[in-house]
Amino acid sequence: MNITVGARSDVGRVRQGNEDALLVREPLFGVADGMGGHLAGDVASATAVDVISGRAGAGDGLDARALERFIKEANRTIWQRANEDSQLHGMGTTCTLLMIDGDTGWLAHVGDSRAYMLRDGELVQLTEDHTLVARMVEEGRLRPEEAQHHPQRSIITRALGVEDDVDVDLIDIDLRGGDRILLCSDGLSSMLESREIHDILLDETDPQAAADRLVDAANDAGGEDNITVVVLDLNGGGGGSAAARAQTAPPPPPEQNPDEGTAPVMEVAGPDDDTLEETDAEEPPPRGRVRRFVIALVILVLLFLAGFGAARYALANSWFVGTSDEGVVTIYRGIPEEVLGLTLKEPLQESDVTIQDLPVYLRVTVQQGIKTDSLITARRTVANLEDRSRETIEAENESEGEGGD
Ligand code: CA
Repeated sequence: MNITVGARSDVGRVRQGNEDALLVREPLFGVADGMGGHLAGDVASATAVDVISGRAGAGDGLDARALERFIKEANRTIWQRANEDSQLHGMGTTCTLLMIDGDTGWLAHVGDSRAYMLRDGELVQLTEDHTLVARMVEEGRLRPEEAQHHPQRSIITRALGVEDDVDVDLIDIDLRGGDRILLCSDGLSSMLESREIHDILLDETDPQAAADRLVDAANDAGGEDNITVVVLDLNGGGGGSAAARAQTAPPPPPEQNPDEGTAPVMEVAGPDDDTLEETDAEEPPPRGRVRRFVIALVILVLLFLAGFGAARYALANSWFVGTSDEGVVTIYRGIPEEVLGLTLKEPLQESDVTIQDLPVYLRVTVQQGIKTDSLITARRTVANLEDRSRETIEAENESEGEGGD
C-alpha cells in the first residue's frame, strides 16, 4: 500500500501560540493537542511526539501493543516532567496515532483529537472522543447535535501526562486502496460540521490541498483553537512514498501572515530533528540594541493602550468558571488570562464546590478557567461541576463502604 500525505498545523485566529504537534514518519502518523498554562501545553504535545517518534525509530517491531507501549511511555515522560517542573505542572496532551502495516491500520487514541475515514464517499469517525459531553451523550443526558456547540465540549476526560498511567483505546481497521484517512485536533472538528469536513475531503483530490482547505475553512469559521490535520491517501499501487511527500508538503504557505504564526512544533519525517531545541540568537551590536530597546518601548506603550481598551471590553462581555485562591469554584466576569500583567477578572459568585471535590481529570481544566458566552451558561457549568463532585463523593463513600465490609 502506497501512502501520500498532506499535513498542516496552524495557530488559528484566537490563540497566542500553537500547542498542537503532528507526526508524519511512515508508517506512523499522529496528532497531539496539548493543554496547560503558558508553554506547558506546547511542551506536552511536543514531548509526546518526540518520545513516540524516537521509540518508533528504535527498530522495535511495530504492532498494536507497541503503539500502546509508546503512548504509555510518552504519558509517563510527560507526567514526570510535569511533576519535576512547577511551570509545567498540570500539563497534558491528547494523542491520536495511526500505524499502517500493509492493508491493516492500527489506531491508538487518548483524548478528543479524532481519526476519520472517507471510503466510497462516506465519512466515518473511527475514534471516540474522551470528553465530558461525549459521556453525557452516552448517558442520554445530551443530544448528539447539542454536543458540537456545548460550552464544555473541550473538557477531556482522558489525557497523557495527567496521571502516571493512562488507558489507551486501540482500534484496528481494514484498509483498502482508495481510502482516505484524516487525523485532526479538535480545532478542526469543533469549528466545522462533519458534513463540511466530508465535502472538502471528497472534493479535493490532492491530500496537501485537502489539508490546506480544511485549515482555511476552520479559520474562516472563526479559528478559535489551534488546528492540526494529517490527510493520508492509501493507493493500491503507484505514487511516491509518504516520507518523500511529507518532506515537501507540510511547511506553511509563504503568504502566511507572520502575526498569525504557524505551528512552532512540527515534527515532519526528519531523521534527527529536535523540535524542542532552541536556536541561538546572535548578540546585536550596542547601537542596534539601543534602537531595538526604544522600538520595544514604543510598542509596549501602544500595546498597553490597546490592551486597556480591550481589557474593558473583555471585562464587560466575558464570563468564566475558575477557582479562587482558596480553591473554591467561582464564577468570574472577565477572562482567566492576564494581559500585559493585568488581571482582568472580578469574582461574581462562589459555589459550594472546591477544586478537591472534583474528579482529577476536571481539575486542570477548571483551574485554567472554563470560558462561557453568558452568565447563564456559567451557572449551568457550575451546576454541572456540582453534579460531578457529588458523583465523586458518592463513589468514594461507596468504595469506603465496600472496604469496611
Ligand atoms: Ca485543541
